[in-house]
Amino acid sequence: MDKLETRVFGAIESGRDRTVKLLQKLLRIDTQVPPGHDYDKVCGVLEERYNHLGYATSLHEATEKYMRLSGARHIGLEGPRTNLVARLKGTGGGPTLHISAHTDTAAIQKQGWSVDPLGGEVTKTSKYGKSAFDRGGGYIWGRGVGDDKGETAALLLALEAIKEAGVRLRGDLVVTANCDEEIGGVAGLGYLIREGIVKADLGIQLDGSMTGIGLSAMGRTRFLVRTRGKSYHGQVPIMGVNAIEKMSKLNVALDDYWRNVLLRRKYPTPGIDFGEGLREKGIECPTGMLNIGTIRGGVQGATVPDLCEEEVLRGMIPGETYEGTQAEFRTVLDGVKATDADLQYELETINFREGYVVPATDPYALECRALIQEAVGKKLPFTGTLASTDMNYQVVDGHMPCVNFGVGGPYSNGHGQDENASIDELVECAKAVALITMRKLGVQ
Ligand SMILES: [Zn+2]
Repeated sequence: MDKLETRVFGAIESGRDRTVKLLQKLLRIDTQVPPGHDYDKVCGVLEERYNHLGYATSLHEATEKYMRLSGARHIGLEGPRTNLVARLKGTGGGPTLHISAHTDTAAIQKQGWSVDPLGGEVTKTSKYGKSAFDRGGGYIWGRGVGDDKGETAALLLALEAIKEAGVRLRGDLVVTANCDEEIGGVAGLGYLIREGIVKADLGIQLDGSMTGIGLSAMGRTRFLVRTRGKSYHGQVPIMGVNAIEKMSKLNVALDDYWRNVLLRRKYPTPGIDFGEGLREKGIECPTGMLNIGTIRGGVQGATVPDLCEEEVLRGMIPGETYEGTQAEFRTVLDGVKATDADLQYELETINFREGYVVPATDPYALECRALIQEAVGKKLPFTGTLASTDMNYQVVDGHMPCVNFGVGGPYSNGHGQDENASIDELVECAKAVALITMRKLGVQ
């Protein structure tokens, strides 16, 4: 590292208290989704900071079309889907780098928290374990500290330090604080990239951890399946058509489809680790999945139900498209329908997001890994997940090579009760972001 980079790292270290305060401010704005209220408030706080740093900012609200594609009606979304885009023009001669972190959070459980989930309390240790980056700097608590407001704060810390150290970047920087990631990101980063509002040569998705560099994730389609029947007295069911029975038939077929077709559909990703737990289940790469997540129907035992509805999540491997997935799903249901003249079903899509993979041999991914190692002193493995992230929009729609890392590890309880993050880890994450930004964009 040169003198300028050392100065930036010094500025990061000395900015930690200010960053904790910012993170507390962000945490106290409740952006759990659904419904995803108050994105405009979070963006307002961030916009002020970015303006202060000299970034040109703009706010973008997804249009009606994207609200429809989000499944807003099914999911119960409310309030404006505000996204912040902040741009810093470089002095010229470098590529454009896009860094994204999301402003929404997972839902907050009503019970089981030992701290205020919107409080931002700071403690010396975490009773859930220790971050590998813990240097005694304490832990911060609340919904979003590890996913994804901690990343949002770490990013700002990195960019403030770059400014404070007097660094002038050659390439352009585009930062997005995008919404709705937890429910598919369609009205968030999906909207910004598909509409061409954000374009870049390289990407960083800050929505991961400091235990690995995420290169691959699954896609998913959320389907609603409905069966219709005919109500009748439950003691004379022979006169009715039972919608729950019909759904049960469809579910037997879906179960067979999942275990015998989808589980065999694999997308090999050499060099990318999907973790010990999955390996024990025989899963080493993206693999087709299906989950029947909800089922609802009927009013009482003495009435033949005329309606049954369920939500099915279909995990898609990279390369599987929504159109293909939907057509195949319909074929499975039609196969059952062909054997039963009384079976009527309807299929709706709530929303979808596709899967992606950046190969472990990608030069940008390898370079980022080396830079992260230089910044934080640890060589992180390349990892993948069966979940899905907004990096999909950067890789699939935006055609950028991209890496995913962030704040949090197994001790963080992401999405669970008592979410917490090591403040030292947040600082290290900021260093990794700063070093990649400076080396990739170039410094004048
Ligand atoms: Zn996240």
